Order: sequence, then structure tokens, then C-alpha cells
Amino acid sequence: MGINTGNFKNLGNSYEEGSNAAVLSAIARSAEELTSGKGWPDGVNDLLAALGKATGVSRVWIFQTIEVTETHITQNYTFEWAGAARYKQLGMPMFSMFTNKIDRPEYRETIQSRLRGEWQKMVIDKLEPGWFRDNLEVQKIKSMLTIPIMVEDQWWGTLGFDDCDRAYDWSDVEVALLKTAGYLISNAVLRDRLSAKRRQFSILKQLTDSSVWEFDFKTGQIWCSPELLYSVPLPTDNIRFSLHKALHLIHPDDRRPLISSVRRYLKGDRKKVFRFDMRLFTDCGDLRWVEVIGNIRSSEDGKPEQLAGILIDIRKRKREEERLREEAVTDPLTGVTNRRLFEHRLQEFIDYSINEGTVFSVLFFDIDHFKELNDRYGHQAGDQGLRHLANICESHLRRNDLLARLGGDEFALLLPETNQKTASAIGERLLRAVESTPFEYDGKTHIMTISIGLASNDGRLTTPARLIEVADTALYEAKQTGRNRLATLTGCLLS
Ligand code: GH3
Ligand code: MG
Repeated sequence: MGINTGNFKNLGNSYEEGSNAAVLSAIARSAEELTSGKGWPDGVNDLLAALGKATGVSRVWIFQTIEVTETHITQNYTFEWAGAARYKQLGMPMFSMFTNKIDRPEYRETIQSRLRGEWQKMVIDKLEPGWFRDNLEVQKIKSMLTIPIMVEDQWWGTLGFDDCDRAYDWSDVEVALLKTAGYLISNAVLRDRLSAKRRQFSILKQLTDSSVWEFDFKTGQIWCSPELLYSVPLPTDNIRFSLHKALHLIHPDDRRPLISSVRRYLKGDRKKVFRFDMRLFTDCGDLRWVEVIGNIRSSEDGKPEQLAGILIDIRKRKREEERLREEAVTDPLTGVTNRRLFEHRLQEFIDYSINEGTVFSVLFFDIDHFKELNDRYGHQAGDQGLRHLANICESHLRRNDLLARLGGDEFALLLPETNQKTASAIGERLLRAVESTPFEYDGKTHIMTISIGLASNDGRLTTPARLIEVADTALYEAKQTGRNRLATLTGCLLS
């Protein structure tokens, strides 16, 4: 047919050792292995062996750079191919995680040249006498070539070729070919790092209930993995949405705040992480609280290119926040509003009343002879009495009324847009309801009564403290004049 095909594994095995063709075909054979299947570390070992045989050197090695400081360098001898047993150095204690001082000028220059990503070749007996030359001579090296392995612009390590038999001067073409081999190793290091990161990320995802997402500024497309959006597993890693469609998955109240928050983030310090809590609609139409976490990738001129990150399920956190918020404003015994929120609301009512010229009223009430109930039947009976009273009051509340327990056996009822006459009628109804609704404890029936003090605000009582004082005084009067009754302060007492 005239078309020849072939497998790279068998390419160029017959080229003469030491020829450029042999080196190139060795690189081609290893490239396939390193960029796919075997990768790290087997593929690297095979590459070193192929290069060693093709170049005819004594030893091919890789030193990994562990740390470089102003004064020291720590390296580890990680890979080696040796042409004969006598050339083997891997495993020698002197090369395992070894630290050298970089105080000698010639060695310092060598390290700095490697940091810059430069290759180096040397014939040892042409080197200046000194520590570096001595060091290489002890290893019986006659000539050497080193190629730095750069990973993500950092000097990751060194690929080295030692010749213990020849004082060999490497040609530019050979150096260029071997630099290509260096790139293959960089690639394998990156792939290895990436696969470790993937493994870590998938563990994290399993632990945290999360999805991954990315937004491309150029196309306006969003990619998101399905975990938090779909209740059933999907046979795809990522789903693509237009920005418009993605916004419709977000609760309407959260859309604008999200957009403003992204805008603020883009204007601010982009090194920071973007975070935003919002509600998402899932495929079942349920709402799910999620936290969006991400960061930006920008072009060199600062244009945002991609915003990417994860979504985390935060339903538990939101429930807990809600519980704490409720707890802070709720009386734990009766479940009604506590004094803190009552006073806050009272201030709001006063402000509204002054601004709008409306009237509102407050009923303060207190159980009559409550101590006796406690003394006779115990504290638990008293607690039940408090809950019993709260229940009766709640069944009398209108839509915007607010019932609060102020402490002990003292309660308050805030009646918005209610004048004194109506409030008084409501109070009287409450008195009758409490009196006619006995409660049972320990098989016995108890009749409870309350006394009520009424204060109405027509704009003259301008602070919560003043209003509470007036209602308290009225309550005191109700107690003094026989209990189980309602008292209202007359005009002269108000001033
Ligand atoms: P008066 O008719 O004058 O109101 O008499 P009283 O016996 O009700 O007296 P007062 O309102 O001053 O007493 C309130 C009592 O309520 C005192 C306290 O022992 C009791 N008390 C306060 N908080 C609680 C509580 O959470 N549970 C119970 N069981 N009793 C409480
Ligand atoms: Mg009382």
C-alpha cells in the first residue's frame, strides 16, 4: 500500500550508540511512556536507561533540589542509570538527602547558573584546581553534562550525564536533544503532582459535600459538577450553564447580592479568596444553602479570565446559625420573645409612633400570688403555670401583636396601632380568659389570675425605659387595688 506504520517502542533501536539519531529515537520512545501510562517513576527510570545507552555515558542521574538557601543547598539523589555496576552511586549515604555549603565561588556560580535554568558541561581536568574539581575527581568523573529540570518556572532538579571513561565535549545538538529529555521529566513531575492533587481533592470532596465550578469571563459559560445540584448521580463530571441559566438556579433574593459581591471582589484584592453564602435550587426544586468559594485568574494586563472554585453544602451551619439567633431572642421556658428583643422592638414601636403619629399600647401583667403556687407544689408546677399562661396569651394574639416574658412571672404584650380603649378591652378579655382557664398539675386543678397595667403611647413617651416605668406603675396600682384587674394611668400621672 505504500504506507508504513510503526510502534514508537521499536523506533530506531538499531542506530549506532552515541549518535544523535540514537538519542532522538530514545527520547521519542520514552516520550510516549512518560506522557501516558507509566509516567512516574518507572517511565523516568526507563528514559534514563534509554539515554544512557544511546549516549554511551557511564551514568545518568537526577538530583532533586530539596532546598536552596543563601548559604546551603540540600539535594537528594533520586534516579540513576549506571552502564556498569562499578558506576553505581544511588543509595550511597553521601548522596542521600545531602546538604552542601555554597560558600566556594565556583560552586556558588554553578548553583546560580542552574537556578537560572542553564545547562553546563565540563571536562574535569580542564577545571580550575579546587574543591569542586577534587569532588568530581574523587568520583572518577572525566566529563559531565547537566541539564536543569524546571517545573513551573522553578529549578526542580538536575539531569546529569557522567562519563568516567571519556573527556567528552558535548555538541550543541546533543545538548538541545537532552534538554528535550529534561522537558519530558518536568512533564512527568507535573503529572505526578497533579494526580496527587486530584486524589487529595477527591478526598476533600467526599468529606465536605461539595461541587467544583468555574466561570469563563470570555464566553460567559459556567461549568459545575453535579453533586450539590442533582439528587441522583449523573454520568458526567461537569454540566455547562449559560450565566443566565445559572442565575436562575439561585434564590431570587441572593442574585443581586451575589453579583454585587463579585463586583466588589474584582475591584478589591484579588489575591484574597472570594466567599459568598447563597441558596441554590436543586433538581427537585428544594433550596440548599451553599457557600461559594473561589479565586480569580487574570491575564497579564489584569483582565479577569476565569473565576473558579468550589461550592460547599452549608445547611448544617445555617441551621445552627438560625438556632443561635432564635436562642438569643427567645425565652427558653415558654418559647416566647425574651426581654432583649422586647426592648429592641419597643424602641422601634416608639420611633414609628413618633414618625407616623400613630398610637400603640403595652400591657404589662404579672401572675397573682405566684409564689404560693411555687411554695405549695414546687418549682416545676410554677414552670408549668408560666407555660400555661403563655399558651393562653398566644391564643389571643392578633397578627402583629408581640408577647414577651420579661422575667419571673412578668409578661408584656405589645399591641401595635391600638389605642387605650381597644387595649383595655383586649386586657379585660385576657383577664377573663386566664381566670376561666384552670390548669392541672399533679391531678389538681388550679385557677390562676393575673393583674395588668396598661400604657398607651400617643407620642409623649419617648424612651422604652419611660414607657416601661409607666406600665409598671399601672401594674402596681392593679395589684394594690385588689388584683385580677386592669389599671390604666390617668393623664396627670403620665406627665
Ligand atoms: P404578686 O401577686 O404580688 O405578684 O405575688 P407573687 O407571689 O406573684 O409575687 P412576685 O410576682 O413578686 O413573685 C414572683 C415569683 O416567681 C418569685 C419567684 O420565686 C418566682 N419565679 C421567678 N422565676 C421563676 C421561674 O422561672 N419558674 C418558677 N417556677 N418560678 C419563678
Ligand atoms: Mg406575681
